[in-house]
Amino acid sequence: MKIENEIKLDFSDVLIRPKRSVLKSRSDINLEREFRFPHSKQIWRGVPIIASNMDTVGTIDMYEALRGYNMMTCFHKFMEENEYPKNDRDRYIISVGIGDRDYEKLLSIYKSDPLKCNLVCVDIANGYLEDLVKFCRRVREMIPNCILMAGNVVTREMVEELIINGKVDIVKVGIGSGSVCTTRIQTGVGMPQLSAIMECADAAHGCGGHIISDGGITCPGDASKAFGGGADFVMLGSMLAGHKESGGELVEEGEKKYKVFYGMSSSTAMNKHYGGVRNYRSSEGKTVKIEYRGDVSDTINDLLGGIRSTCTYVNSKNLKDLPKCTTFMRVNNQVNRIYG
Ligand code: 5GP
Repeated sequence: MKIENEIKLDFSDVLIRPKRSVLKSRSDINLEREFRFPHSKQIWRGVPIIASNMDTVGTIDMYEALRGYNMMTCFHKFMEENEYPKNDRDRYIISVGIGDRDYEKLLSIYKSDPLKCNLVCVDIANGYLEDLVKFCRRVREMIPNCILMAGNVVTREMVEELIINGKVDIVKVGIGSGSVCTTRIQTGVGMPQLSAIMECADAAHGCGGHIISDGGITCPGDASKAFGGGADFVMLGSMLAGHKESGGELVEEGEKKYKVFYGMSSSTAMNKHYGGVRNYRSSEGKTVKIEYRGDVSDTINDLLGGIRSTCTYVNSKNLKDLPKCTTFMRVNNQVNRIYG
């Protein structure tokens, strides 16, 4: 047994220090970024915010809404082959697990239309498995120029392993941080998200790769903290749930409307997609109801407005410069008010 004494931080443990700024208006801030990836050699341009590959969030309707903002949607794994759109293919990501059926599905999509596999996410709850690295290498051999992302991990050595040996371009970072995730309760495993971002971004950038901060973003300020901490992309689940474009059943209780939102390892998801929770594993996700919030565009405008405002507070004229302009101050658990 070993103990690390250095304190690890979550978004709620810090605030961003304001700095003298010459920026006049939020509208002067550019939130678009351009990335060149180490293995695919492709260039991607857009606003680096991604809808999570949960079946309540990563839907076709979400893609239709987000592509107008130059953002991406990571489609959930249970989408049928013929549902993938034929247009704006750099605005969606196909996600798969690491089973033989996942490989066959990807191969079949690739053979029918290679451009649909321009962005691929290989994603499992425990990204520390050697099989993940092997699977990513097979995907890289199948589709040499795809923008390949994989996860989830939270530490330096596995980020390096995935980029160098898995031939991955972008590593997805976050274990236990998701709003409907119960991994920390069920297993005791995890890492506070801001520290995970800082460690993993440093490791990824050191070998030419990039990271996605996945999970735990509850409000625009958390997204700014993730970008300020070095995340290249952020992935959102609960912030995009509960809208017209989200999946999940609409429930009416008296005057109020809700949408059901659940983790992809919750018993709700396992019953829906696998016909039950297999007895060797326990559920590591929960099911909640989110008050219905209408069009996702209102939430997106609020999110982008918040991030732009952060940039003006710290004199960063674009998102790329935000980490350079960010100084975090440790605070005593800054509790966020309920968002939405
Ligand atoms: P949120 O933005 O809601 O805080 O987090 C979304 C992320 O939570 C997803 O992108 C995914 O990484 C993670 N997640 C989704 N469902 C589950 C689940 O059932 N269990 C766990 N451990 N994580 C989940």
